[in-house]
Amino acid sequence: MPARPAPFLLLALLCASCRGTPPPAAEQGAQVSEIADRVAQYTVVRLAPDLSALGESERRMVPLLVEAAQAMDRAFWKQAYGDPQPLMHSLQDPAMRRYAEINYGPWDRLEEDAPFVPGTPPKPKGARLYPEDMSREELEKAAEAQPELTSLYTVVRRDENGALVAVPYSQAYAEEYRLAAERLREAAALAPTPDLRRYLEARADALLSDDYYESDLAWMEMKDNTLDVVIGPIETYEDQLFGYKAASAAHVLVKDLDWSARLERYAAFLPDLQRGLPVPDAYKRESPGSDADLGAYDTLYAAGDANAAVKALAFNLPNDEKVQLEKGTRRVQLKSTMRAKFEKILVPIAGVLIAEGQRGHVTFDAFFANGMFHEVAHGLGIKNTLDGRSTVREALKEHYSALEEGKADVLGLYMEQALHERGELGDVDLRDNYVTFLASIFRSIRFGASSAHGVANLIRFNFFQEQGAFTRSTDGLYSVDAEAFPKAVTNLAERLLVLQGDGDYAAVAAFVERYGAATATLEADLARLTAASIPVDIVYEQGLDVLGL
Ligand code: ZN
Repeated sequence: MPARPAPFLLLALLCASCRGTPPPAAEQGAQVSEIADRVAQYTVVRLAPDLSALGESERRMVPLLVEAAQAMDRAFWKQAYGDPQPLMHSLQDPAMRRYAEINYGPWDRLEEDAPFVPGTPPKPKGARLYPEDMSREELEKAAEAQPELTSLYTVVRRDENGALVAVPYSQAYAEEYRLAAERLREAAALAPTPDLRRYLEARADALLSDDYYESDLAWMEMKDNTLDVVIGPIETYEDQLFGYKAASAAHVLVKDLDWSARLERYAAFLPDLQRGLPVPDAYKRESPGSDADLGAYDTLYAAGDANAAVKALAFNLPNDEKVQLEKGTRRVQLKSTMRAKFEKILVPIAGVLIAEGQRGHVTFDAFFANGMFHEVAHGLGIKNTLDGRSTVREALKEHYSALEEGKADVLGLYMEQALHERGELGDVDLRDNYVTFLASIFRSIRFGASSAHGVANLIRFNFFQEQGAFTRSTDGLYSVDAEAFPKAVTNLAERLLVLQGDGDYAAVAAFVERYGAATATLEADLARLTAASIPVDIVYEQGLDVLGL
């Protein structure tokens, strides 16, 4: 059963984000050395966190959870590309194979999915989640009679007559999902608390029934577990055609109890901050759940969509709007990942692009706070359009993710400002948060315009520049204007919240078109980061041997 049948607002509009022209296929030799450079964009981070907080039974659960995660990895390959074996066999060069592993296919996720394996056709916008020969209009029309075609948890195929049919993930990825469900059940039997056992069993059921609602609730109700796993079809970024389909992923996590305690108190401010948003009342009429929580976690293992190319610093789940309104969300900050990216990427970026006098404002505490408030800020704003006809996600389609990420970024800063004014943040200098945020924009834009976060950051860069939030010196060094910056934050927050509430797809497409592209100056500045050999992102060295289990 599709878990999210809903009436859809069907708009016959063209995709405004036509990008991704593949480069001409280079000669194999030239290609190979270039591929080694591309692999070097990722700096290796070992996932070997402190496991001393885990009890004996939890340590025995880890290998089972890792096996379940590896099943998600195989399912994600099928969603993103197909069977990896023939591809891997055809690649002679180790760097080429490595790059295909990192990207889960022959398309470069840092280069708007341009093929890097000679002879590969462009990546379909809908990856392998829809038939390649299907048009947007065909799906929209068919979905009028078959709403399950737009479910998060079905893949669209053609039947023998060529008609579109929805195949539930539990069938499309039966082998992988069944194996993951089995391992989750075995892990559940070892779980030290009833909450964790109930969640793992519910999640196992969900993988087989395609109904994730109960397991999402169980995850939200689980409070004092140290070991955690986020597994199944989760985020919709892989579906660039519509943003409907969730990609298979897994994070095996251990909670950092000290840092989590520092974070928890902020969720309590959400309802009050929602009321203070800089928009007319209609755009803030929903109330965010107040028993949402925040936690800092270290990653033991990441798989599938959670391990593809650029690594998330944090996430905010579940995505099911119904669970969000009932229970709020859980914001998971991936602390070890954040620390690695801060030290290996952000500090070096600031050394190249931020004015010398402001570099001291780039701090880990500010980076962590910005990331944390980004996650909290996903809970602000509204989930349903003002006309009440659909969710914001349904109305904005493939632009939804970029807008939602952009909203969370600026509302995160808005929260910092609001809490700082009330004296809730203690002794912080908001200039740290602003300058760290600016340096982080450069970091994120390097992910490319094929990622929702990349587009969100381009929009913000161009919008902030227009508003004078920062300046660029003639020698290419950027400085935050501490007066103009918070005003630009408020103005962009207002724009994004109104665009979401109106659910006007055409207006959003025009907005993304206007602000979502890099200028020549920006491209040249980003090239200076590459010339300085600053890694773009990280790749995990992970597994039971790395964990010492
Ligand atoms: Zn986000």
